Amino acid sequence: MVLEKASPVEERPLKLVDMPDPVAGPGQIRVSVHACGVCHTEIDEIEGRLPPSRYPMVLGHEIVGVVDGLGPGAKTFSEGDRVGIAWINRACGRCSFCASGAENLCDDAGWTGKDADGGYAAYTVVSEDFAYPIPGRFSDVEAAPLLCAGVIGYRALTRSGLDDGGVLGLYGFGASAHIVIQIARYKYPNGKVFVFSRRNREEHRELAARLGAEWIGATEDTPPEKLDCAIDFTPVGETVPHALRNLQKGGRLVINAIRKRTPIPELEYAQHLWHEKELTSVANVTRWDAEEFLPLAAEVPIVPAVEEFLLEAANDALVLLKEGRIQGAAVLRLMGGR
Ligand SMILES: [Zn+2]
Ligand SMILES: [Zn+2]
Repeated sequence: MVLEKASPVEERPLKLVDMPDPVAGPGQIRVSVHACGVCHTEIDEIEGRLPPSRYPMVLGHEIVGVVDGLGPGAKTFSEGDRVGIAWINRACGRCSFCASGAENLCDDAGWTGKDADGGYAAYTVVSEDFAYPIPGRFSDVEAAPLLCAGVIGYRALTRSGLDDGGVLGLYGFGASAHIVIQIARYKYPNGKVFVFSRRNREEHRELAARLGAEWIGATEDTPPEKLDCAIDFTPVGETVPHALRNLQKGGRLVINAIRKRTPIPELEYAQHLWHEKELTSVANVTRWDAEEFLPLAAEVPIVPAVEEFLLEAANDALVLLKEGRIQGAAVLRLMGGR
């Protein structure tokens, strides 16, 4: 399913085409794709807020499949191994960011499904250094959303500075938040999680309650206690002042979004930032985030809520995701996936 030019998701722009099977280059593996998650970032790519570096492009960066070919010199995996591929596709390995372990900020990094063909396809190729073993307890479809929603949610949670006993606020309750709440409940059993969701999304609220949210309200609500930290997963700017206003003194808000579709309203210093409140973002992921998170996900164990679609129905999945009508994560399944 390829993207040939920027257009609104409602125009169902992805096209099913036949392409030659990719061949693994030096140090690369070829993966027969079994499942690929559908992420908000694809909506930004399709609609031109984060255009791919070329057209046509195969989107998709939450890929689970089986190695079916090794390029020259590739030795980490064997044919038949089940692997995952995430958003980070390559990094330069030499710049100051890479040298300090922040390859997520590398200027020369490439991103799966944006700078290299991704997982909305039967096959993809990737450097063996940017593929990860998938724990056996997850099916292909369950594992897919772990690779972006899960990994970046884990990075956001780490950056939030939450510790045990703290109060965490989650703004928006989709693919990433429903995984983050499970990590937070597991790692910080004495803490509390408050969920802020759109008022008309009853199914998101039910899922939040089932996964252990202490309190659930609307994005503009004031919670019963101040938040020690908050993560904003929403694609809109209006949530930012609400979250900052509800922070405890010294609290931190992490924005987990590559792009916001609407502007952040003007902030008022006294109520939004004074008292050493912090506002930051989470940008991309490193391969080490994936390597740390996947075994943790199996240990918890995370139970991803997944809505399955066939690859050919990718446009439908994207429209539903844009409308906020996906419960948990949307995943495309290919022949052979489980
Ligand atoms: Zn993503
Ligand atoms: Zn670099």
